[in-house]
Amino acid sequence: MVPMALAAVLWFGETMNPVPLRNNKAAAANVRSVTVLGATGSIGDSTMDLLRGARDRYRVEALTGNSNVQGLAKLAREFNARFAAVADPARLSELREALAGTGIECGAGESAIIEAAAHPADWVMAAVSGAAGLKPALAAVDRGATVALANKECLVCAGDFFMERAAKAGACILPSDSEHNALFQALASGNRDELVRVIITASGGPFRTWAASDIEQATLAQALKHPNWSMGQKITIDSASMMNKGLEVIEAAYLFSLKPDEIDVLVHPQSIIHGMVEFSDRSVVAQLGAPDMRIPIAHCLGWPDRIKGPSARLDLAKIGQLTFEAPDFERFPGLRLAYEALRTGRGATTVFNAANEIAVAAFIGGKIKFGAIARLVEATIETWIRSSNLAPLRSADEAIAVDNNARNVAASLLPHVALKAS
Ligand code: NAD
Ligand code: MG
Repeated sequence: MVPMALAAVLWFGETMNPVPLRNNKAAAANVRSVTVLGATGSIGDSTMDLLRGARDRYRVEALTGNSNVQGLAKLAREFNARFAAVADPARLSELREALAGTGIECGAGESAIIEAAAHPADWVMAAVSGAAGLKPALAAVDRGATVALANKECLVCAGDFFMERAAKAGACILPSDSEHNALFQALASGNRDELVRVIITASGGPFRTWAASDIEQATLAQALKHPNWSMGQKITIDSASMMNKGLEVIEAAYLFSLKPDEIDVLVHPQSIIHGMVEFSDRSVVAQLGAPDMRIPIAHCLGWPDRIKGPSARLDLAKIGQLTFEAPDFERFPGLRLAYEALRTGRGATTVFNAANEIAVAAFIGGKIKFGAIARLVEATIETWIRSSNLAPLRSADEAIAVDNNARNVAASLLPHVALKAS
């Protein structure tokens, strides 16, 4: 049997990579302890659903939420978690009350979320949304846990050092985002020097066929109508702007040590093929499945084995047609900006993500039009570069400082961008 660390070296040559691209079938523990960061969210919900169906194989160590104390307490009680933490520090007494008599320990505030991640669970789902997920994910990585990574912002914000730190700590990163999970599965078919490119698919979102002038004016309700996937609010809006695909291009680059030119995006409205890898012999290996996040999460939960999943079986005859289109970088400038930020490096992807978070919040709050989201991101990155702020990021604190500063820059540009849009 090839030990996991060696398996990773086999793929990446000298650069160790913590994504285990050779399935060495190391025996998984009989009962795995698991922690779910962001248990009350959409990915959290899918994860808890899978755990509910396999209670004999998993024991819940810690669960976290942001402010939904009742939802968190309900899950903690149901799974008899050892620790529950809520991010809002003002909700501690409410959480204590909701867990009274259970013996479940609880905490509140950012430090309590980090404490949950540091609890000794074998497997951690990192599914806090946004840059707030970085420190908790690092806490799990630093103790060498197996981390199912749904939070793409972690890599986009801190890709410069996140994977390196995971490798140093002996952590194992399992890509949970559906496209990256597909690549993770397909990459096992060949070696690094045989890889030509990876392709991540995009549904194209609700505005796939819309004219640029209509996309500019799109409402929140229209942006929230994703054709295939049911997800949290932020990622649904990012899918409509295709910023999500941009974030995923960056995520793929850091996860698998790929250059921007080795990553292609393909619009595939049915969302059945999630990712493909082209090898030197021109074989293209794809992963397919219904658009149901429980499929990639089940792959990570079972890894290195496979567990029985509750999702619908794929019926291609019923689906009939799978279609593909090239992405439109003009109607969806977020995708172009993501490639540019990735090529620029030195914190540019952190700025890209921070500005996008500010832009999406402003759009939700009715302060800017949909079309202004990408304009705000572009203006923020331009301002950032003009101010000579680019520098490689070496720590979480540096990444978070850049994230905070970029948010301030984006917020200061907001009125100008909003004005231009009206
Ligand atoms: P969501 O908004 O439904 O849930 C987010 C979770 O994080 C909730 O439990 C919330 O309480 C918690 N949270 C929010 N802010 C927090 C904070 N400041 N501190 C601590 N906890 C906080 O989001 P989601 O759709 O489940 O997405 C979670 C992550 O997974 C995102 O990074 C997203 O990009 C990624 N992802 C989601 C999907 C999907 O299908 N939903 C697919 C791929 C990747
Ligand atoms: Mg995805």
